[in-house]
Amino acid sequence: MSDDGTATATPVAELRGVSKTYPGGVTALRDVDLDIPRGELLGIVGPSGSGKSTLLHILGTLDRPTSGTVRIDGHDISRLTDRRLSALRASRIGFVFQQFHLAAGVPVLDNVADGLLYAGVPLRERRAAAEAALTRVGLAHRLAHSPHQLSGGERQRVAIARAVAGEPALLLADEPTGNLDSASGAGVMRVLRDLHAAGTTVVVITHDREIAASLPRQVHVRDGSLTPALRAEGGTR
Ligand code: ADP
Repeated sequence: MSDDGTATATPVAELRGVSKTYPGGVTALRDVDLDIPRGELLGIVGPSGSGKSTLLHILGTLDRPTSGTVRIDGHDISRLTDRRLSALRASRIGFVFQQFHLAAGVPVLDNVADGLLYAGVPLRERRAAAEAALTRVGLAHRLAHSPHQLSGGERQRVAIARAVAGEPALLLADEPTGNLDSASGAGVMRVLRDLHAAGTTVVVITHDREIAASLPRQVHVRDGSLTPALRAEGGTR
């Protein structure tokens, strides 16, 4: 909101008393409070059906809560029109999904560059940003490949490059290793850690407790409510 430097203290995402009840009556989130400070690497963990995807959709502004307040980068999303909300989402939030969602038959470089179309960036700059993002995820040698010529782990790294090419304030990864063998999954987690180390705020949603346990902070979702993670090793801190 302000340009005087205080913005860095504003959480990237701030949820207060957020509840979500779907038409039909299922309450998927109950009175959730969550702050995601800038620069965090956060795991959101919980069993299937606990409300993780609903939380991701709300954090990603793909859905609005039934009640409560959602602020993204300081903006109360209830005050934004759908159009302004789409613009906020396109410029500040990057998404990575379990199924990669790459365009078939389109070279890797353009798959990533096309992710910046919405931002109105000229083609040359889109391609330059795409190449830089692909280099960050270790795929500088695969720019002309089509997705079908890549391994699953490489495809997910392309999806990550696409999500971060526009330097979003928040990267949301929904079960990013769900379709990968453990070695490829470890490679994807390494890329997410590297991005975090370089300053990106990253949220990883997972039902995999081992992945969650490897992240600096975790929150658990259970029946739509958040609980702080319990330390598996019985530590007191
Ligand atoms: P998770 O991602 O942890 O598996 P979800 O957020 O997908 O959990 O779902 C939480 C609950 O909300 C579940 O009971 C699910 O059936 C329900 N739910 C999810 N999406 C919808 C929807 N669009 N309409 C109705 N109920 C839904």
